[in-house]
Amino acid sequence: MLRLFSFGSGARLTMRTSEDAPLVICGHGMVAQRLIERLVALGHPFNGIVVFNAEPFSAYNRIQLSAVLANEIPEADLALKPQSWFARHKVSVFNHEPVTRIDTDRGTVTTAHGRVQAYSKLVLATGSRPSSLGISGEDLDGVLTFRTLADTRALINAASTHKRAVVIGGGFLGLEAAEGLRARGMAVTLLHRSDHLLNRQLDTTAGDMLKGLLAQRGLNILTGQSPAALLGKSRVAAVQLNDDTVMSTDLVVIATGITPNIDLARIAGLQCNKGICVDSRMRTSHPAVYALGECCQFGTHTFGLVEPGFQQAQVLAQHLCQTSEATEFSPGSIATRLKISGIPIFSCGRVQAGPATEDIQWQDRPEHRYGRLLVEQGQLVGAVLMGDTASGPWYADLIDSGRDISGYRDTIAFGQPYCEAAA
Ligand SMILES: Cc1cc2nc3c(=O)[nH]c(=O)nc-3n(C[C@H](O)[C@H](O)[C@H](O)COP(=O)(O)OP(=O)(O)OC[C@H]3O[C@@H](n4cnc5c(N)ncnc54)[C@H](O)[C@@H]3O)c2cc1C
Repeated sequence: MLRLFSFGSGARLTMRTSEDAPLVICGHGMVAQRLIERLVALGHPFNGIVVFNAEPFSAYNRIQLSAVLANEIPEADLALKPQSWFARHKVSVFNHEPVTRIDTDRGTVTTAHGRVQAYSKLVLATGSRPSSLGISGEDLDGVLTFRTLADTRALINAASTHKRAVVIGGGFLGLEAAEGLRARGMAVTLLHRSDHLLNRQLDTTAGDMLKGLLAQRGLNILTGQSPAALLGKSRVAAVQLNDDTVMSTDLVVIATGITPNIDLARIAGLQCNKGICVDSRMRTSHPAVYALGECCQFGTHTFGLVEPGFQQAQVLAQHLCQTSEATEFSPGSIATRLKISGIPIFSCGRVQAGPATEDIQWQDRPEHRYGRLLVEQGQLVGAVLMGDTASGPWYADLIDSGRDISGYRDTIAFGQPYCEAAA
């Protein structure tokens, strides 16, 4: 069935009604791509899939931007699928064409190019953007972020023409930015507000061990320090710290967290809090609109790692295809697996012990190995591993399942094969 719409400019567009309109996806990041692959594998019922993407490139491996920055892999390795894959599966991707408006009454989206596209169902996968610091000087030239391929190219370019960088933020993104710039020959200072690095994933001991190791490799790391202002005329020339110390620099990278991209959804009247509110089937407050990945919020949870987004993609694909094994999303205790400058790190569940926590720790400082398991009432409730993370998935499984570990509590630090052999 066809319907005619007329627009303010007098232009008329012909569109299909929602019953036979395609599935429209807004955003083409890693999570949207995973959803598309699951839909294709399940033989989805839609009359095609149309994807609008703000970035000029189809979905790529954002995680590997750190490896590109560190000059470990070429940009060409980032692609997730060749263009022929999209044509073969009737997926139309419009890059560099962000959606600017959603009309949930008409069931249409409008793009920055003025295109109006009807949808049968709409999926928002708009991800997030780097949070700003809210201090003066953030708009100066030479103040960059680390989120996209374009950001990465700008950082590589800056490293080829400048010598000194200050990276603000000692979470995994800040550490990877700092290490990448160091690998490209810059003298890098990293500022971190908390008293130890990766404070969301690591305890103080592991954070300090990581700091020592990175310092040995040449990073200047200042913990317990925040910037008060970025100084310069048109280009950044220095960072003023809270204690009024002024550090000269040629480049500043802000990596202090992410903010979900929700404006489009909020203006369309969808319920939003920090992210776009979804239920366990990834449905927003409108029955034809879904959201997943870093732009969504489930209960009080928002997301900053790819794994929960992949789980959400699986759940949503099953629901959109109405498969019999459709599942519900539950955030569980999502494990963080990272590699900082070649050092594997694993963290799952709680990081800090409470008064009733049994604390099992081991460390080998010269080998940069550390492990800490937190046990409460016979159950594993937290695991932090650095250096050797092979047992991480087993510990994550024990934390998630809440199984009683009393039978092998004394040997649990040796890992699953040992515990099973000894049982
Ligand atoms: C350098 C780096 C390293 C990382 N390393 C890890 C790691 O080791 N492990 C890990 O788990 N995670 C890591 N992450 C995080 C991980 O990349 C993200 O969790 C994941 O990419 C989120 O996917 P997403 O699809 O939800 O959002 P995004 O990847 O942000 O994709 C959203 C897309 O939507 C587009 N968009 C936004 N608004 C619109 C609009 N209005 N219209 C159309 N398109 C729009 C955006 O331009 C973007 O392309 C890393 C991230 C970075 C930047």
